[in-house]
Amino acid sequence: MSTQEAMVNAFIEGAAELDEATAVMIAQRKALLGPAYRLMYERPLHFVRGEGVWLYDPDGNAYLDAYNNVTSIGHCHPKVVEAIREQVGILATNTRYLHGAVLAYAKRLLATMPDEVEHLMFTCTGSDANDLAIRIAQSHTGGEGIIVTETAYHGITQAVSEFSPSLGENVNLGAHVRTVPAPDSYRVDNVAEEFTAGVNAAIADLKRHGIKPALFICDGIFASDGVFDGPRGFLKGAVDAIHAAGGLYIADEVQSGFARTGEAMWGFQRHDVIPDIVTMGKPMGNGFPVAGVAARAEVLAEFGKKARYFNTFGGNAVAVAAASAVLDVIEGENLLENSRVIGLYLKDGFQALARKHACLGDIRGAGLFLGVEIVSDRAGKTPDAAAATRIINGLRDENVLISGCAKAANVLKIRPPIVFSRENADELIEKLDRVLHRLS
Ligand code: PMP
Repeated sequence: MSTQEAMVNAFIEGAAELDEATAVMIAQRKALLGPAYRLMYERPLHFVRGEGVWLYDPDGNAYLDAYNNVTSIGHCHPKVVEAIREQVGILATNTRYLHGAVLAYAKRLLATMPDEVEHLMFTCTGSDANDLAIRIAQSHTGGEGIIVTETAYHGITQAVSEFSPSLGENVNLGAHVRTVPAPDSYRVDNVAEEFTAGVNAAIADLKRHGIKPALFICDGIFASDGVFDGPRGFLKGAVDAIHAAGGLYIADEVQSGFARTGEAMWGFQRHDVIPDIVTMGKPMGNGFPVAGVAARAEVLAEFGKKARYFNTFGGNAVAVAAASAVLDVIEGENLLENSRVIGLYLKDGFQALARKHACLGDIRGAGLFLGVEIVSDRAGKTPDAAAATRIINGLRDENVLISGCAKAANVLKIRPPIVFSRENADELIEKLDRVLHRLS
């Protein structure tokens, strides 16, 4: 969760009345875990069990999950649970030994990528993957400069937090980092041109400061920037620009990967571009920590010569068993198609609500990753973060989970497990309608 999200959906002490059990747990958490963590919602939630699209509190109340993309194929999917259980009882060693399942998985995953992307390395988290990716890119290009979108989130290591502007003003961007405006398709007419111009300006500014560009990295659905899915292909100019400057394009698929966007396994495929490096994580193990970096052979060559790579848990036998089961389920349950079909159905539902409720300014997204922009006046497209917060918490009170994002903290972020059904979508739409009526 980025700070930007926390701004739109943060628990603020004293803002709402809490029941005694919740207040006690929050106090204990503060005492034990310290001050850096954040909770979501005005009245934070306590869950003890998950199943499919449902999360359950200690009293057995069910909440419809329209937000979690880690357990992307549904909470506690039995096939993943069984694969982990079985493998952990057989062998849990690391990538310093030969193991057939790692090779089989790598072959299978790479088959979903463009032919040019030939190698897969294993990490434990998305931050870990992006950290490794920039080491590889800097080693290949001999450059240092990094270009990201202005509200991007890429992770928490020292190096990666330096190019995660959504962590907020108190987390410094590196002197080698430049930001470009988000591809705001709601407010900008020619997204492709403007976005490419932004990347070119960033390249020029790096060079002016004597910094050689190493890479442009972006999230395939611009999740923390506000969910920007189109127009299709708008990324191509930016990718060409960074290549012309001698840098690489890294596709961060932590959010948009594994069938999330409904049209293709990976978000970048919607833009017809071929990345030099792809990073992935979150849904890869449906809750088991497994993440990775895929790269073109020539990009990895120099790093491989100089650096020895080992990641104790990354790609261990249990992680690979979980990740393989996830691919089985995506294929076996036809979840790419489900993401596309239910995503469109939800979008239609939100569009129908927008005809009744003027605060819904723009509905966008791909597959089951949707953004709904909340505005105070449609003509001026003025962001309304306070209303977004009320809607998110209103839905929480109706036992439906979503959250928010964007620089102005006014975009509803709707990202249910990709097993979401038509019936689940109807419930979400109906309850959103009720909340909007109540707030109007
Ligand atoms: N990249 C993106 C686009 C992300 O959304 C996140 C996590 N929110 C990360 C990287 C970091 O992943 P992790 O939390 O697994 O380190």
